[in-house]
Amino acid sequence: MEGDRISYHESVRKVYQRIKKDGMDNIWDRYEAQGLGAPDKRCPFCQAGVRCDLCSNGPCRADAAKDKKGVCGIKADGMAMRMMLLRNVMGASTYHYHTEQTIKTLRATAGKKTPFQIKEPGKLKDFAKRLGVSTAGSIDKIAIRLCDFAEADFNRKLDEPSKIVEALAPNERKELWRKLDIFPGGIHGEMMFAASSCLTNVDGYYQSLALKAMRLGVAMAYQSQIVNEYCQDVLYGIPRPHKMRVDLGVLDPDYVNVLPNGHEPFLGFAMVQLARKPEWQEKARDTGAKGLRVIANTETGQEMIQRWEMDSTFYGFTGNWIMQEAVLASGCVDLFACDMNCSMPIDPVYAQRYKFKLIPVSELVAFEGITDRINYEPEKAEEQAARLLQMAIDNFKVRRASVEPVTQLPMREAVVGFSTESILEALGGSLAPLLGAIKDGTLRGVAGLVSCTTLRDHGQDVHSVRVAKELIKRDILVLSMGCGNGAMQVAGLCSPEAKEFAGPGLKGLCEKLNIPPVLSYGTCTDTGRLADLLGAVSAALGGVPMPDLPVAAVAPEYMEQKATIDAIFALALGLYTYVNPVPTVTGAPNLVKLLTQDCKGVTGGLLSVETDAVKAVDGILAHIEVNRKKLGI
Ligand code: SF4
Ligand code: SF4
Repeated sequence: MEGDRISYHESVRKVYQRIKKDGMDNIWDRYEAQGLGAPDKRCPFCQAGVRCDLCSNGPCRADAAKDKKGVCGIKADGMAMRMMLLRNVMGASTYHYHTEQTIKTLRATAGKKTPFQIKEPGKLKDFAKRLGVSTAGSIDKIAIRLCDFAEADFNRKLDEPSKIVEALAPNERKELWRKLDIFPGGIHGEMMFAASSCLTNVDGYYQSLALKAMRLGVAMAYQSQIVNEYCQDVLYGIPRPHKMRVDLGVLDPDYVNVLPNGHEPFLGFAMVQLARKPEWQEKARDTGAKGLRVIANTETGQEMIQRWEMDSTFYGFTGNWIMQEAVLASGCVDLFACDMNCSMPIDPVYAQRYKFKLIPVSELVAFEGITDRINYEPEKAEEQAARLLQMAIDNFKVRRASVEPVTQLPMREAVVGFSTESILEALGGSLAPLLGAIKDGTLRGVAGLVSCTTLRDHGQDVHSVRVAKELIKRDILVLSMGCGNGAMQVAGLCSPEAKEFAGPGLKGLCEKLNIPPVLSYGTCTDTGRLADLLGAVSAALGGVPMPDLPVAAVAPEYMEQKATIDAIFALALGLYTYVNPVPTVTGAPNLVKLLTQDCKGVTGGLLSVETDAVKAVDGILAHIEVNRKKLGI
């Protein structure tokens, strides 16, 4: 595998050479071994989503053209949608696991039992008010009340409508969701409802399964994502724009480098707080290092860098999950602390070869052959962070004595930390300038790029960068989230100089507001935050229905199960939703028709699937222009 099939980023391509030279097992070669080539040698039934092994009668393969069904009688459409719903359940439950850890952390912080403080009392009060939670009494009391309220809602019965969704979602959507019977109860019950529907001989009807997926998506977006991100803002700060070093050049072998990885930022923040203290820097220097650094990675990294400024200790951000083996093979890592997701099963092999400590910090995460672990507990966060830092310091000499590092890797600065609040601040306190720019055509519209990174069609981030460049060229402002956001930052599109790739309208706006054409808007969990922003835009435009806004959801490189529930939610929200690679549903003709055509008449949302970046953006722009006409702008 060479060039563009590896990665968009020069840094990753460079370390790939080292990985090859060292004879290491790696993601690119493993991908190739699965059958990459023309034609793709993988099973066509699996690729089309019409294969099932849920019960002992299987594995079964369905073929819609021949009316060949599973042994139980399920058709291709039901088989493909049922598997999609199961993916959605996994995605929702992982998002929600993170949310519950955040609520635990907020509760313990309000009880003065963690090293954290409530950084944003104003946001806490505003959020409590929106949810109908009393704001009387001390900040700590409000926080505890909010935690109680959220947890009660998570546990609400299926037939009791969620108060969180009721409080946060736009009225027009709520009415529609009620009409479609997809207004959810508590997320726990919704996950049970969705998973139980997937059992053999329970629900084999693709339309019913698709509606259940949307119902779960609505519960997940409002109860898991928004509650999670807003409570993390309360604890660690509302994201505000600032510069951040990015790419593999942030790794310097002469420092003790500690890398939190995954999606939950708790121990990462606790480690930065400690590592900023002179005594910890001293300890690192005593072992022969120049100092101690915490380096952000993947989505844990996005959660951290959007909220906290860089300095000599919290040094920078490497990139998204596919470049993980390149990070680990750099020879600069002393400790990789792995929370909830995005740490690869191959990591122990890299830990052994490149001499770093691989430590799961969540009860969810496990690796073959790794017995050390520290399961995050909010009340013990400081002590746990100290143990992790000490392990890294103890590792430094071992690594330096035995591993040749890769040096001279590139680094740049990206502007990160856009949130609804900070966008409003940048606009002078109201959405009016942004809406004005959309109304007068300076901006044609806005794309929420919520994406992962995948090797399925191209190398890491190649297609995401192509799509984003094509969007900004056509004066569409991009808000980027998820691992796709890491792609944008490392590729330079979140830097002010990227305005040169933008069309004249967007370029002028970037110059006027001093912003990049791609606004770094956080993680994939910030999809909920984006939905909330769209609700505010719709209200500011006088209640324009979601499907009529000049906006689109864009996922050029969706990958895992969390991404699938994001896309389903975008459909429930009524958005034009571009996804790539082609989802594994193509063997299900009625389901494909439902998602790509008929859904428009149900929720107003539509799935667009296109592998070519230019054609994909043609479709997005055409949708935006139709909506502009509808709005008379
Ligand atoms: S659930 Fe149906 S399609 Fe799936 S393995 Fe069993 S019989 Fe086959
Ligand atoms: S869902 Fe996608 S964006 Fe989110 S953490 Fe996983 S790979 Fe990254």
